[in-house]
Amino acid sequence: MANLLYDTLFGRHSGKSTPFLRLANGDVISHAEVLARSSCFANLFIAMGLKPGDRVAVQIDKSPDAVSLYAACVQAGLIFLPLNTAYTSDEVIYFVENSGAALFVCQEIRSREMKVVAKSTGARLETLNSEGGGSLAVLADDQSDSFTTVSRDGDDLAALLYTSGTTGRSKGAMLTQSNLLSNAQTLSEFWRFTADDVLLHALPIFHTHGLFVALNITLLAGGSLIFMPKFDTDFMIKHMCRATTMMGVPTFYTRLLDDPRFSMQVAQHMRLFISGSAPLLAETHVAFEQRTGHRILERYGMTETNMNTSNPFEGERRAGTVGFPLPGVMLKITDTATGKTLPNGDIGQIEVSGPNVFKGYWQMPEKTAEELRENGFFITGDLGQIDEDGYLKIVGRDKDLIIAGGYNIYPKEIEMLINDQQDVLESAVIGIPHSDLGESIIALIVAKKGSMPDLDQISRNIAQSLAKFKQPSKLIMVAQLPRNTMGKVQKNVLRETYGADF
Ligand code: ATP
Ligand code: MG
Repeated sequence: MANLLYDTLFGRHSGKSTPFLRLANGDVISHAEVLARSSCFANLFIAMGLKPGDRVAVQIDKSPDAVSLYAACVQAGLIFLPLNTAYTSDEVIYFVENSGAALFVCQEIRSREMKVVAKSTGARLETLNSEGGGSLAVLADDQSDSFTTVSRDGDDLAALLYTSGTTGRSKGAMLTQSNLLSNAQTLSEFWRFTADDVLLHALPIFHTHGLFVALNITLLAGGSLIFMPKFDTDFMIKHMCRATTMMGVPTFYTRLLDDPRFSMQVAQHMRLFISGSAPLLAETHVAFEQRTGHRILERYGMTETNMNTSNPFEGERRAGTVGFPLPGVMLKITDTATGKTLPNGDIGQIEVSGPNVFKGYWQMPEKTAEELRENGFFITGDLGQIDEDGYLKIVGRDKDLIIAGGYNIYPKEIEMLINDQQDVLESAVIGIPHSDLGESIIALIVAKKGSMPDLDQISRNIAQSLAKFKQPSKLIMVAQLPRNTMGKVQKNVLRETYGADF
């Protein structure tokens, strides 16, 4: 009987009273407790008639039971399908229908709203709340806390994880046991995780970052998590003195820096800060080091591949870059049109291959064939450039590239200049249809709180640094940029909104 993912991440801790989840209220849940609960869920799944390979969709709060549910799916050979808690019932219907999930577990508080999901998809509906209650919890209470692990191959699916939907409709990435396990092993070694690590965990656990990167690595190393329901600056500052590592999206870092209480002393117990999921501004990197003495380690990954590159653990962590390919990962920069590998320094599409790369998009054979080459390389949809020392820089998304008058224009270059201007908080540069040039460039600008940027002055300033063909034809003030539920800027929404007006 083999189920390597279960045995390696979870099974090894069975019966151990070692601390695993440290909750905000001071409670500490041991590995044994999480696993005993997970066996109850696994027994329940079998009693419900679920079979290996069935999908279990969950849209639940971050809680110890949610972790047990993940473990239970792995142990029972079911495919775990976590969903962003911000999704509406209409959105959930798409995911449950698309995946053909047999069971959908929702937050108890939304059970009435979610009845429509069961009705229109035929999935069984159960509930779970963050305090250990809900219909699924009640049913699990009656089950045995010992379960015989179901055998699975490395190539069997462990999870169906939908992409964040930044560039269009979310796609279901089929992730195998080996995909998850190989990446967890590589990262835990690369970032030197041990049983002594205490990871400050404020990320959601429905996304690859908080779920597979943070949880799997910690499980593998035998360490523990300070398990926050969500990011809260007060909590982070309060609990950081007990942690050794933190994983966050760039906003975690800017929010911490915005708080004058966040100091070198608060971070003195930490050994490693990791950032990813969105670009970390070089200025955040510098400001963070000045405040704490720590250089943030930025890495690059995505739903389909887990993590691909990382700045070094030892050696220079270079601001504005995502480092080098991880051991076992091959990365190349290729020409978008021909697919040929480009020399270092040239901008092209980022392609990756390795044991971490997914098996394809669920029931989307054409999309899979377009993006996953037969030789195993996945076309990530991101554009990048390798610098003279081999560090990868993400230039932007292929879909956001602007082509005006035959020139390739990378929005990020323009955004960085605009963001440096007085009174500007952030900006997004997009291309909109133009009858003569193909596309013309416009910049949407968000002001710093309580200030009003001088747009004419900004135009004049950036004109000094940018060739004429890269200069936006229009600068527009907006109250905020549209973001998806992961906080990523949705340029497709901006293109739709502003494309029609000009
Ligand atoms: P969709 O594929 O549905 O449009 P998405 O690509 O945003 O959504 P995710 O898989 O959550 O969904 O995000 C992966 C993307 O996040 C990467 O392709 C890349 O564009 C971006 N990303 C991740 N880490 C970094 C980073 N360190 N710097 C810049 N971008 C990053
Ligand atoms: Mg994507």
